Amino acid sequence: MAFMTGKTRAGGDWVPDFVTAINKALCIGCGRCFKACPRDVLTLVEHQMTEDDEDCDSLAMVMDIVNEGDCIGCGSCSRVCPKNCYSHAPLPV
Ligand code: SF4
Ligand code: SF4
Repeated sequence: MAFMTGKTRAGGDWVPDFVTAINKALCIGCGRCFKACPRDVLTLVEHQMTEDDEDCDSLAMVMDIVNEGDCIGCGSCSRVCPKNCYSHAPLPV
Protein backbone atom coordinates (compact mmCIF):
# COMPACT_ATOMS: atom_id res chain seq x y z
CA MET A 1 0.00 0.00 0.00
CA ALA A 2 1.26 3.48 -0.89
CA PHE A 3 1.06 6.39 1.57
CA MET A 4 1.14 10.17 1.19
CA THR A 5 4.84 11.01 1.08
CA GLY A 6 6.67 14.31 1.35
CA LYS A 7 10.31 15.29 1.07
CA THR A 8 12.88 16.39 3.60
CA ARG A 9 15.11 19.36 2.85
CA ALA A 10 17.81 16.95 1.68
CA GLY A 11 15.39 15.24 -0.68
CA GLY A 12 14.69 12.13 1.37
CA ASP A 13 11.22 10.64 1.67
CA TRP A 14 9.05 11.68 4.64
CA VAL A 15 5.85 9.77 5.42
CA PRO A 16 3.64 11.92 7.71
CA ASP A 17 2.10 10.04 10.63
CA PHE A 18 -1.25 11.82 10.96
CA VAL A 19 -3.11 11.96 14.27
CA THR A 20 -6.17 9.66 14.24
CA ALA A 21 -7.38 9.47 17.86
CA ILE A 22 -6.82 10.52 21.47
CA ASN A 23 -7.69 8.10 24.27
CA LYS A 24 -9.73 10.36 26.54
CA ALA A 25 -9.83 7.74 29.29
CA LEU A 26 -6.06 8.15 29.68
CA CYS A 27 -5.73 11.92 29.12
CA ILE A 28 -4.94 14.04 32.20
CA GLY A 29 -5.48 17.36 30.41
CA CYS A 30 -1.92 18.55 30.98
CA GLY A 31 -1.87 20.54 27.73
CA ARG A 32 1.64 19.48 26.63
CA CYS A 33 0.41 18.28 23.25
CA PHE A 34 -1.54 21.52 22.71
CA LYS A 35 1.64 23.56 23.24
CA ALA A 36 3.68 21.27 20.99
CA CYS A 37 1.26 21.19 18.02
CA PRO A 38 2.31 23.67 15.31
CA ARG A 39 -1.03 23.53 13.47
CA ASP A 40 -3.78 24.24 16.04
CA VAL A 41 -5.24 20.77 15.56
CA LEU A 42 -6.03 20.22 19.26
CA THR A 43 -8.11 21.80 22.02
CA LEU A 44 -9.23 21.00 25.56
CA VAL A 45 -12.87 19.90 25.94
CA GLU A 46 -15.08 18.79 28.82
CA HIS A 47 -15.37 15.02 29.16
CA GLN A 48 -17.85 13.11 31.30
CA MET A 49 -15.85 10.37 32.98
CA THR A 50 -17.25 6.80 32.88
CA GLU A 51 -16.47 3.57 34.68
CA ASP A 52 -13.72 3.04 32.10
CA ASP A 53 -11.88 6.12 33.36
CA GLU A 54 -9.57 6.24 36.35
CA ASP A 55 -11.65 8.95 38.12
CA CYS A 56 -15.28 8.27 37.23
CA ASP A 57 -18.49 10.24 38.00
CA SER A 58 -17.04 13.67 37.26
CA LEU A 59 -16.30 16.12 34.48
CA ALA A 60 -12.70 16.47 33.37
CA MET A 61 -10.90 18.58 30.79
CA VAL A 62 -9.27 16.36 28.18
CA MET A 63 -7.65 16.94 24.79
CA ASP A 64 -9.59 16.44 21.58
CA ILE A 65 -8.91 16.67 17.84
CA VAL A 66 -10.85 19.63 16.41
CA ASN A 67 -8.93 20.48 13.25
CA GLU A 68 -7.87 17.12 11.88
CA GLY A 69 -7.48 18.41 8.32
CA ASP A 70 -4.60 20.72 9.28
CA CYS A 71 -2.48 17.95 10.85
CA ILE A 72 0.91 17.59 9.12
CA GLY A 73 1.74 14.29 10.80
CA CYS A 74 4.79 15.58 12.65
CA GLY A 75 4.20 13.38 15.71
CA SER A 76 5.10 16.12 18.22
CA CYS A 77 1.89 15.55 20.20
CA SER A 78 2.75 11.91 20.85
CA ARG A 79 6.34 12.62 21.79
CA VAL A 80 5.36 15.00 24.60
CA CYS A 81 2.32 13.06 25.89
CA PRO A 82 3.13 11.43 29.27
CA LYS A 83 0.16 9.01 29.06
CA ASN A 84 0.54 7.55 25.55
CA CYS A 85 -2.92 8.82 24.56
CA TYR A 86 -2.25 9.19 20.84
CA SER A 87 -2.87 7.02 17.81
CA HIS A 88 -1.39 7.95 14.41
CA ALA A 89 -1.42 6.50 10.92
CA PRO A 90 -0.02 7.38 7.50
CA LEU A 91 -2.55 8.35 4.82
CA PRO A 92 -3.14 5.75 2.07
CA VAL A 93 -3.17 7.17 -1.45
S1 SF4 B 1 0.96 15.16 14.45
FE1 SF4 B 1 1.81 17.28 14.62
S2 SF4 B 1 0.36 18.60 13.49
FE2 SF4 B 1 -0.68 16.62 13.89
S3 SF4 B 1 -1.81 16.94 15.82
FE3 SF4 B 1 0.19 16.06 16.37
S4 SF4 B 1 1.52 17.85 16.80
FE4 SF4 B 1 -0.28 18.61 15.65
S1 SF4 C 1 -0.17 15.46 26.42
FE1 SF4 C 1 -1.42 13.57 26.58
S2 SF4 C 1 -2.20 13.62 28.69
FE2 SF4 C 1 -1.49 15.71 28.23
S3 SF4 C 1 -3.34 16.80 27.43
FE3 SF4 C 1 -2.24 15.93 25.65
S4 SF4 C 1 -3.26 13.92 25.28
FE4 SF4 C 1 -3.77 14.57 27.39
